[in-house]
Amino acid sequence: MAYSADVIVIGAGIGGLTAAALLQERGFSTITFEKNSYPGGSCASFRHQGYTFDAGASVFYGFSGDERSGTLNLHTRIFNRLGVQVPTIPDPVQIHYHLPDGFEVPVFYEKDRFLGTLIRRFPHEEAGIRAFYQELETVYEILSALPAGSLEDIVHVIQVGARNPGKTMALALKTFKSMGKTARTYIRDEELLKFIDIESYSWAVQDAVSTPLVNAGICLADRHHGGIHYPVGGSGAIPAALCEGIKKFGGEVELNSGVEEIFLQNGRAGGVKLTNGEVFTARAVISNATVWDTFNRLVKDPRYNVPENRFLLAPSWFQLYLGVDAGIIPDGFHVHHILVDDWSQYNEIGGTIYFSAPSVLDPSLAPNSKHVVHAFVTDQVHRWNNYKRGDSAYKKAKEKFGDSVIRRTEKILPGLSDALEVKVFATPLTNQRYLNRYKGSYGPLLYPGQNILQKPQNSTPIKDLYATGDSTFPGQGVIAVTYSGVSCASYVARRLGNPLEYL
Ligand SMILES: Cc1cc2nc3c(=O)[nH]c(=O)nc-3n(C[C@H](O)[C@H](O)[C@H](O)COP(=O)(O)OP(=O)(O)OC[C@H]3O[C@@H](n4cnc5c(N)ncnc54)[C@H](O)[C@@H]3O)c2cc1C
Repeated sequence: MAYSADVIVIGAGIGGLTAAALLQERGFSTITFEKNSYPGGSCASFRHQGYTFDAGASVFYGFSGDERSGTLNLHTRIFNRLGVQVPTIPDPVQIHYHLPDGFEVPVFYEKDRFLGTLIRRFPHEEAGIRAFYQELETVYEILSALPAGSLEDIVHVIQVGARNPGKTMALALKTFKSMGKTARTYIRDEELLKFIDIESYSWAVQDAVSTPLVNAGICLADRHHGGIHYPVGGSGAIPAALCEGIKKFGGEVELNSGVEEIFLQNGRAGGVKLTNGEVFTARAVISNATVWDTFNRLVKDPRYNVPENRFLLAPSWFQLYLGVDAGIIPDGFHVHHILVDDWSQYNEIGGTIYFSAPSVLDPSLAPNSKHVVHAFVTDQVHRWNNYKRGDSAYKKAKEKFGDSVIRRTEKILPGLSDALEVKVFATPLTNQRYLNRYKGSYGPLLYPGQNILQKPQNSTPIKDLYATGDSTFPGQGVIAVTYSGVSCASYVARRLGNPLEYL
């Protein structure tokens, strides 16, 4: 049978683009359909009144030049394989935390400098601090020694296990551990344990007890090895380079092309129908949509429906995209910040403010004498469902909530309200509409106590339908979904008879 392509990918998020790029480079023909007019999903950039804003992500791992074999430095490895360039700027501080009672922690690239800040505040916990962060280091060392691939690919798992028996066993045992419970075996101080919670919440939107140790071993250790880098031109440079790689090897990325349906034929995924009625067939279909959108919207057969509570639904976001006078950003200001006013509220809706000013590193993002500020807080779509887009009541409610976040942010950036040239607010409804994400959610999370390996892998209950992105292992974050794209491409390539070479 003549197919439209070997593999169809639904969605040009980082998960989908990574899978498409690696398959295309391996010689499979791919078509990626993206509903928006730009690629990248939550890792896209957009231009507005002379400013370039990161739509979502702006803290990036995986760009180190370190050529050691292993699962880390994935962006560098992938871009090297594709032969495309993404120039980046090293970012000396992962996040600067501003916490209650004047507790300030800039997480420096240099680990000793970071630990020193903690030890100065909690001298009685020095041994515990060192031991806990050493646990993360051990996970990091194991992970960085293993090649990236699919845990569903038996050949890969057997090969990795046979070549690294000790490391594989140690990693398997660590998958049963939680970050918070591990911290509690070393640390007693309640304020310090709260800091460990916010370290987890900053990327996992869960407290440390609910977060697997293995995930923490990447996010909280690699920042002191590979480090954090910012792509020149903004987050959109990453999807742009992946698209360049796909096209270089003959693949297609079709923008403005929403997929309406994944149709089934003889019990397998036969292909997709676009919203304009066009039909495309493939040997395999990969969905980069969330698990709820894939199985409750795109697959029409109700037998495959996924109830919301099969996973823990992460909150959505209220986002502020601000163009500000450069004068309010002090010299030496770090790029990424997290602000908690009250520990009892940090994990409540809107309780933690995240914000970044990436033009501090890359001035090309803002006009002369200006900076971009991207701030966001967690939010829920139900708070906005009664409003209609374009209505003045919706606009008023957005202004009221957005302005309250700006006022709180002034604790760190005094004068922010008076220094605004551009102000764009986006609610969970915006997130839902732009990204086709169920309830605008950050995605499915594991329930507390679940093992990281209980996160779905890339195969699905439907033959020839695969999944990539933050609904799949290992979860949320650009480097995590990149891993899921690698593992999805590896598994699909194996199933289609031409396995990938390891990265
Ligand atoms: C506010 C915010 C801040 C963040 N900050 C960071 C950070 O600093 N660092 C970090 O590492 N991570 C961060 N993240 C997380 C990270 O951005 C995401 O986990 C990751 O980008 C998700 O990638 P994905 O491929 O799973 O899906 P998405 O980015 O959601 O991409 C899916 C794509 O599929 C398209 N699509 C969906 N349905 C269809 C359809 N039917 N037809 C066609 N196209 C479709 C969508 O339009 C979208 O482009 C942040 C996320 C948010 C929201």
